[in-house]
Amino acid sequence: MNEPRVRVAPSPTGNLHIGTARTALFNFLFAKKNSGRFILRIEDTDKERSKSEFEENIRNGLNWLGIIEDEFYKQSDRSEIYKRYLKKLLDSGSAYVSKEKPKEEGDREEVIRFKNPNTSISFDDIVRGVVKFDTTELGDFVIAKSLEEPLYHLAVVVDDHEMGISHIIRGEDHISNTPRQLLIQVAIGAKHPLYAHIPLILAKDRSRLSKRHGAVSVEEYKKIGYLPEAVINYIALLGWNPGTEQEIFSLEELIGAFDLNKVQKGGAVFDEEKLKWINGEHKKRLIDSGKIDPDTDTFEAINTLKNEIGSKINKDDEDKIMRLLKVSGANKSTVTEQVVFIKESGFMDYVPKQPGYEKEKLLWKKEKDFDNIKRHINKMKEILYELPEEKFTSDDIKDAVWDYASKEGTGSVLWPFRVALSGRDKSPDPFSLAEILGKEETIKRLIFADNKLKK
Ligand code: GLU
Repeated sequence: MNEPRVRVAPSPTGNLHIGTARTALFNFLFAKKNSGRFILRIEDTDKERSKSEFEENIRNGLNWLGIIEDEFYKQSDRSEIYKRYLKKLLDSGSAYVSKEKPKEEGDREEVIRFKNPNTSISFDDIVRGVVKFDTTELGDFVIAKSLEEPLYHLAVVVDDHEMGISHIIRGEDHISNTPRQLLIQVAIGAKHPLYAHIPLILAKDRSRLSKRHGAVSVEEYKKIGYLPEAVINYIALLGWNPGTEQEIFSLEELIGAFDLNKVQKGGAVFDEEKLKWINGEHKKRLIDSGKIDPDTDTFEAINTLKNEIGSKINKDDEDKIMRLLKVSGANKSTVTEQVVFIKESGFMDYVPKQPGYEKEKLLWKKEKDFDNIKRHINKMKEILYELPEEKFTSDDIKDAVWDYASKEGTGSVLWPFRVALSGRDKSPDPFSLAEILGKEETIKRLIFADNKLKK
């Protein structure tokens, strides 16, 4: 294959959509894999709907994802070129100025229509195989409002031709546009590029992914706290898979593995749980290689929560909550997920102060005997009282209580120990909890449990 030239051609009529990001990524991967060029072209012929803030959002989003273009164009800079082609089409009789009957006030009285040769036309799509159309039903379609105002089909075809685009990789929703564009290519003497129409992104209910399903713009995913590495990795798998077991890819690895021939026909279902998992895996990699500080997101999550509930949490308790997030492994998730996790875990309640709970909660499973629990709680208190402050670490605490706990039954002993510290059915393991709360607080909470059992 000659070095391919590909493009992504977003219209700046909204923020960077996850689907556009995926189209951009497939083009980018294909270009990089085959030593080609990747072009970003802003299609802003629709002056009313195009906005510079959306253009900026699209460019920033692609940049954030690491999808960097080799060449950049904007249709609004190219009016002279479209005009030249329109004139040629008019001169050759492939297009004509058509008098229109305005339907509404403000409608034009004149447009430029393409003279449809009414042929049947086909193309061999890389993803979908041979697609055939009878173009008669398209009629003489409009290609420009005037010489100065070309419409989408004309501008796309002229640009793809002028820019030497070899492969058009775009969403399946553009299949119905292809016949018109093939006809215009013939009329301007352009070569047909190769086409690959990639499957739509669907929501879980298999309808097209839209705002009512949740986040759809790249910016929203960024705000939730997803890493760009994870978003890239996940969207690469929407409609493509490498045919191996590998699921976690860096951008470099994606370039190495990408193959347009392995893109599937069927719709690709967007699964945010999978994205979360992929995000966690990337975060682990980045933390392990020292590239990111795991505390940054945790810190942000705690601050978000503090603002939300207007709670005053002192620095010392904040540190403890951060350590609990780390032992729970939750520091690997996004800021948003960490916020949810901290809320559900109750850390904000039971770390700064002794939690309240019903004494029945101290009973492990089918245990009925409060005396047993009382005995275990007292024994824990005794053992931990003897443990010097500097040895009050999760490992040493475990070592110190393990013989007793395994003799008496680990569940019967460790369950009430944990509830005494957290007041909750679910919490991190009691050894880590005790270490993080500290010796004094741990003993206090065991005494509290003991007193509860007296009543
Ligand atoms: N400008 C079109 C869009 O935003 C894309 C055109 C194309 O890829 O051919 O959907």
